[in-house]
Amino acid sequence: MIVMKFGGSSVANAERIRHVAEIVKSQITEKPILVLSAMGDTTDHLLSAADLALREGVVSIDKVEKLHRNTIQELNLEAAILEEVDPLLAELQTLLTGISLIRELTVKTRDYLVSFGERLSVRITAAYFNSIGIKALAVDAWHAGFLSDSNFTSAELDEESWDRIPEALRPLIEKGIMPVITGFIAKDRQGCITTLGRGGSDLSATMIASAMNAAEVQVWKDVDGILTSDPRIVKAAKPVETVTYDEAAELAYFGAQVLHPRAMQPCIKTGTPVRVKNSYNPAAPGTRIIGTIDKKTGPVRAITSRKNVTLVDIVSTRMVGQYGFLAGVFATFAEHKLSVDMVATSEVSVSLTLDAANDLGKLKQDLSKISSVEIKTGKAIVTIIGDVRRSSEILQRAFGVCVLLGIQVQMVSQGASKVNISFIVDDIQAGEVVTALHSCFFEPLDKKI
Ligand code: ASP
Ligand code: MG
Repeated sequence: MIVMKFGGSSVANAERIRHVAEIVKSQITEKPILVLSAMGDTTDHLLSAADLALREGVVSIDKVEKLHRNTIQELNLEAAILEEVDPLLAELQTLLTGISLIRELTVKTRDYLVSFGERLSVRITAAYFNSIGIKALAVDAWHAGFLSDSNFTSAELDEESWDRIPEALRPLIEKGIMPVITGFIAKDRQGCITTLGRGGSDLSATMIASAMNAAEVQVWKDVDGILTSDPRIVKAAKPVETVTYDEAAELAYFGAQVLHPRAMQPCIKTGTPVRVKNSYNPAAPGTRIIGTIDKKTGPVRAITSRKNVTLVDIVSTRMVGQYGFLAGVFATFAEHKLSVDMVATSEVSVSLTLDAANDLGKLKQDLSKISSVEIKTGKAIVTIIGDVRRSSEILQRAFGVCVLLGIQVQMVSQGASKVNISFIVDDIQAGEVVTALHSCFFEPLDKKI
């Protein structure tokens, strides 16, 4: 058995859904379980509708309603599905009316609201499969065994889900029915709808695949897999053939927005292989994500960058031989609710990075009480994801590139076991550095520095 997950752009309209059906049909003997996102940009449209209701008291589900009704019509599903879709759209309208009246939108209500996207897409797609002779059933995540905590908008799945999911799905599969399950959503113990964070349907899919012991989970997107770099920065970016779970998770955190950052967690437990595929180009092999890579490959898997970073440089001779100094520094960041990304320390200094969006005046005042502080804006983090066992080779080549470009690296960090090497350069240099690193590590030999 396999799990096939299709993201929003893969089920964006009637034509795309027909195309998904072709892809599924070609692998029907593998007994697929489907996991779907909301159609197209429905999640964003729902959030905008909520915003409009909240701010202006205006209730409008036009965009969402039109997309789903048109799709139903184009797929000739009126008779089969309107009975199910009409009450959902009515419930959505009522909910927005409620928001417009009380002018309040809690995170709990937000999750309830966005859940309509996935609930609609699975119903329409399952009905289409039935209409072409493939027995399918739309299943809301909570009927597929998904139980989460009550951390609305970013819920964690409960351990119990591991047993509940196979209990819920096995009977369907034994009857030869293909489950079509809502990604992204779950319910907590109180029965309230939760979501797993934006892009969370990846996690839904990997969770089902791991809990069901599936042979593979295919994550169908609109790109040819995980790329070696951001194609908007590096024209020569190309799909990576194989990465490890760790590398994929690092990539998700460091800006390659291909997979949900937590999506690898269930697979790490069970070793279930993941394949990222392009529904617009099914013939492309995609990227395979597995536990360890035996085959000899280059030392680097991908290079990413994140702009708009602020560097905080803290220097104090009081650090020498002391304990508790770093605790004090981090406590100050915690008090200001600032999330630190990169850290590098020496005996007398600690440098860290933050997102630039924060106002740091007050932080600087507080830190100045224990040390001298310098705040530098307009920085970028360049991250190389690669084989940590070859870190010296990676560092040598990467810094060779910086020397040639005449660029001074301003801070460096590399974890002990982790596969990422990050360093700070000026914002305006990031594109140039990433492009040059990419050509050094990925482009043909004659171009190598
Ligand atoms: N529909 C949700 C989102 O747009 C979940 C997902 O697509 O994975 O974030
Ligand atoms: Mg989406």
